Amino acid sequence: MLPTKQYGDKMNRPMGDQNSIAIKVERVSKSFPGVRALKELDFEVTRGEVHALCGENGAGKSTLMKIIVREYIEEEGNIFIEGQNAKDLGIRGVQKLGLSLIHQDLNLIPTLTVAQNICLGREPVTRFRTIDWKAMRLKAAEFLAEVASEIDVEERVEDLSISEQQLVAIARSLVTSPGILILDEPTARLDHKASDQFFAFLERAKQKGLTVVYISHRLEEIYRICDRVTVLRDGRKIITSRINDLPQTELVKHMLGRE
Ligand code: ADP
Ligand code: MG
Repeated sequence: MLPTKQYGDKMNRPMGDQNSIAIKVERVSKSFPGVRALKELDFEVTRGEVHALCGENGAGKSTLMKIIVREYIEEEGNIFIEGQNAKDLGIRGVQKLGLSLIHQDLNLIPTLTVAQNICLGREPVTRFRTIDWKAMRLKAAEFLAEVASEIDVEERVEDLSISEQQLVAIARSLVTSPGILILDEPTARLDHKASDQFFAFLERAKQKGLTVVYISHRLEEIYRICDRVTVLRDGRKIITSRINDLPQTELVKHMLGRE
């Protein structure tokens, strides 16, 4: 069970007019040397929806998500997170608004334990201001339980399977009590059992009203769990549609730009 405390607190913020919009991206462009990764791109995520982001490798999906969490800065365009202009927000500011990104490249520290990775930067302390190891293990285990994982929190991350490492990264993203969770190709690394655990987690998160942006190539899963889908191709938005209004063959056609 997802404890309510984790997902409730970021979701009752007064919003003014833009009540139902969690993320709004307007005409955003971003270049890297030799590549225009995003071209005047619009993208919108409604609160409480599970929104799939699809596109071939290099389409710009990860770049868009990194801009939303302020790891990259756009060259032009506007981004609003929970109604606030992202130009005024840094990485921490976006986190405080309840946004959490699970990177495609997990960003775990291999030589640290599972508990240390999950609690990194947010270690519980004793009243003497030293790290409270016991509380840290308990906290880590609590977040791992969210993804229904039986991983030992005292294991070092480098000793885990890739699939387990992915689950640890997901557990770690929950530490900030996100109201908006961005998952960049989480299932690419998961084995069969871990995939099932992950989808059960996603179903529970959806039921709790969490807003999710889900980047994946697995169309079957997208059709199972997502409300809407946006397709990117060559840094441009091709379409946003309710998933039920877009047959799978059409979706693939949009991704590839051909039959
Ligand atoms: P996707 O996640 O859809 O596969 P990316 O957003 O990772 O696509 O990449 C979009 C384009 O931007 C690609 O051409 C990629 O090579 C380029 N790119 C992404 N990140 C960088 C970077 N840090 N430096 C240079 N080029 C990058
Ligand atoms: Mg990517």
